[in-house]
Amino acid sequence: DAKNSGRGRYALFTGELKQAQEAVHTLELQMAEALKEERFVLYYQPQVDLKTGEVCGVEALIRWVDKDGTVRPPGEFIRLAEENGAIVPLGRWVLERACRTGRAWMELSDGITRPEPGGGRSEWSISINVSNRELAGRGYLDHVDAILEETGFPPKHLQLEMTESVTFTEEEHQLHLFTEIAGRGIRLAMDDFGTGYSTFSVIQSLPFHIFKLDKSMIDDLVSAPHTRHIVKAMIVMAHSLNQRVVAEGVETAEQVEVLRELGCDAVQGYYYSRPLPEEELLAWLKARRESRV
Ligand code: C2E
Ligand code: MG
Ligand code: MG
Ligand code: MG
Repeated sequence: DAKNSGRGRYALFTGELKQAQEAVHTLELQMAEALKEERFVLYYQPQVDLKTGEVCGVEALIRWVDKDGTVRPPGEFIRLAEENGAIVPLGRWVLERACRTGRAWMELSDGITRPEPGGGRSEWSISINVSNRELAGRGYLDHVDAILEETGFPPKHLQLEMTESVTFTEEEHQLHLFTEIAGRGIRLAMDDFGTGYSTFSVIQSLPFHIFKLDKSMIDDLVSAPHTRHIVKAMIVMAHSLNQRVVAEGVETAEQVEVLRELGCDAVQGYYYSRPLPEEELLAWLKARRESRV
């Protein structure tokens, strides 16, 4: 009868819930283990300056390499890490790894830092993604200072990407933090721009240097004049505030052309390259440079 089938559904539901909880728990344990065993890696996706055609930076994107060699994208574990707090040690690892790698690249004769005829060298950056929760915790700034000092990586080459949700919480603490970070010469980038509720009034009161246009806007760029007008307005306003605009998720030559016409500063996307392991990135940079000479 109805009562029994209701109870049956309930039992089924709790059974599924229990399974889901166990899966989350297993993932948590695996993550803790992976962190201890250093089975996370950074992939790097190049960003190309639309005026000079030079690579002006890379974004570091975390991957988790399973024991069997499977590479897991951040979509499978970052949310959970944010929820359970594991993002704090993970984020520290990312920062340290990015700074060490960037410092090592400065020693390479054919790394991304080699002076280019166009002279775009001083602007190159390594970007890392920072979650809300990392910034909310005490001690983030001390950690950044310690890593910069330890690795000798110049702060002007470091860029921190955060989503706008970060700018609406704990405003006093956050504003102070942003000001301190920017004061060290580290650049702040607003990630996934255009997907949330930020207004330019909020944005201009924060020391952000870069706006990254979200892929969803880039997807519509060629087909929707409406989106093109909005992107154009964003670029004009950002430039009037001395900020740079980077388009993300660029997949076609047509999109590159539209973005160039609209005055976008740089692009990042599969059209140029997917995120690559360090060795492959260095090979890609070398090949690109040789083909451009
Ligand atoms: P995000 O910071 O917005 O990074 C851009 C994402 O778009 C990356 O996905 C990248 O691989 C993907 N992408 C770039 N170009 C294209 C394209 O042309 N087409 C398509 N379809 N996709 C493109 P990924 O690497 O899976 O990272 C997803 C998100 O995970 C990132 O979004 C970022 O929010 C987060 N994340 C990645 N690494 C870290 C990290 O070290 N710490 C934290 N807190 N979050 C991270
Ligand atoms: Mg990002
Ligand atoms: Mg983004
Ligand atoms: Mg995104």
